[in-house]
Amino acid sequence: KNSVVETDVLVLGAGPGGYSAAFRAADLGVKVTLVERYAELGGVCLNVGCIPSKALLHVAATLHEAEESAQMGVRFARPELDIDRILAFKDGTVKKLTDGIRRMTRQRKVDVEQGTGTFTGPNQLLVTRDDETETQIQFKHAIIAAGSRPVKLPFLPDDDRIFDSTGALALRDVPPRLAILGGGIIGLEMATVYQALGSEVTIIEAASQLVPAADADLVRVYQRYNRDRFTIELKTRVTGVKAEPDALILTVEAADGTCREIAADALLVAVGRRPNGDLTAATRAGVVVDDRGFIPVDAQQRTNVPHIYAIGDIVGDPMLAHKATHQGHVAAEVIAGHNRRFEPLAIPSIAYTNPEIAWTGLTEQQAKAQGIAYAVAVFPWSVSGRALGAGRGEGKTKLIYDPETDRLLGAGLVGIHAGELLGELTLALEFGASVEDLGLTIHAHPTLHETVGLAGELAAGTVTDVL
Ligand code: FAD
Repeated sequence: KNSVVETDVLVLGAGPGGYSAAFRAADLGVKVTLVERYAELGGVCLNVGCIPSKALLHVAATLHEAEESAQMGVRFARPELDIDRILAFKDGTVKKLTDGIRRMTRQRKVDVEQGTGTFTGPNQLLVTRDDETETQIQFKHAIIAAGSRPVKLPFLPDDDRIFDSTGALALRDVPPRLAILGGGIIGLEMATVYQALGSEVTIIEAASQLVPAADADLVRVYQRYNRDRFTIELKTRVTGVKAEPDALILTVEAADGTCREIAADALLVAVGRRPNGDLTAATRAGVVVDDRGFIPVDAQQRTNVPHIYAIGDIVGDPMLAHKATHQGHVAAEVIAGHNRRFEPLAIPSIAYTNPEIAWTGLTEQQAKAQGIAYAVAVFPWSVSGRALGAGRGEGKTKLIYDPETDRLLGAGLVGIHAGELLGELTLALEFGASVEDLGLTIHAHPTLHETVGLAGELAAGTVTDVL
């Protein structure tokens, strides 16, 4: 039935940004109402993003390890795949986490209103449900955490063999030939999963490199390692797709203007995500939403309307769960009267591919573009005992630092477990470490993280030659 609710803080959207903001506000003694259109809490990240993709990537990594172990003299029989059990593993992983979020809302007495929220004024939001009942929420403060959705390409036919990341994670089948439009992190992670499960994968990317935000030298290592696994078409655009009964026929245009056709059994569209700013009617509360759907905010996550805040994917790049979480904490603490700002020195990014590509702080391409004076030290994993002992000497650890002060400005890694090695480097950046500090820190031998210390020594000049 219809109802009216009064609350101190309304949080719109229960993704990593929204639930983190709601929990922090509740912990600080503020009355919170969390509005989410779906029955499951956790947003994109828990339901159709970070978590299901990592569960499937773990399955892919197991298959890759079994395959790669042949070079160490251990050969397994051809793996038998039980797709239903793989799906159950993935869904079970998601459920453990979404159930956990639900439990935490109860423990903290966060009131959850299920339904689609649209602002009707600067202090009101209307929640509408499928059964047509409504709740009118009166709030003192609001935090908009409505996230983002996949970009759709208007020229693609409506065909169930064409899907986005959500469709790819649903894993209805393993198409013999999968084309992936977009060579960013999401496209490459799904390429890793489907290739491991048996698809022949073609990645089509308009830019001149895969993962355009990462430094080219790291991506080159990834690409070389995968040259026999994927067909990679760079500087190539898909201009049309014909849905024929037995195949999808993609027309692709290369940089020189020549066109050709590629046949595929399925097409994953992973060309980016757009913010949901247009879906919340925030403008009716007076909030500025820019023409791309982003909501501009200041360092305290405040929109142009002082009692309304916005966090996560909806405020801009990078669209990452941990950025949303930290922004959620800032917004909640500011509302509770604390003097907090979102001013990270580094936001880590990871492609959980094989090998992984990971970077934090300044990249070399950003340093160049911004005219920042920098120096680079690279420690090759071809001389790391641990990497070689895993048969994976292709990786590298790269430090970007200020040549005057030796202060670390950024770091990039490519290699197995690169993402796990990034924690130390992000902490080093936040602590204002110099490359010498990294070199003087005793790293256990033999580990992959030892390459961080050795890169620090190379940069500081205490080691001059790695061989
Ligand atoms: P979301 O998670 O998008 O949550 C927004 C919520 O708001 C949703 O639940 C939505 O239903 C709800 N909502 C929207 N409008 C309304 C409305 N009007 N009324 C009610 N509810 C509404 N990031 C990482 O950091 N690491 C990863 O490994 C990673 N992997 C990813 C893999 C994939 C395949 C995808 C698609 C994304 C991945 N991301 C990853 C990105 C990550 O999922 C997002 O950055 C993160 O979910 C953003 O959190 P958010 O709180 O801003 O919004």
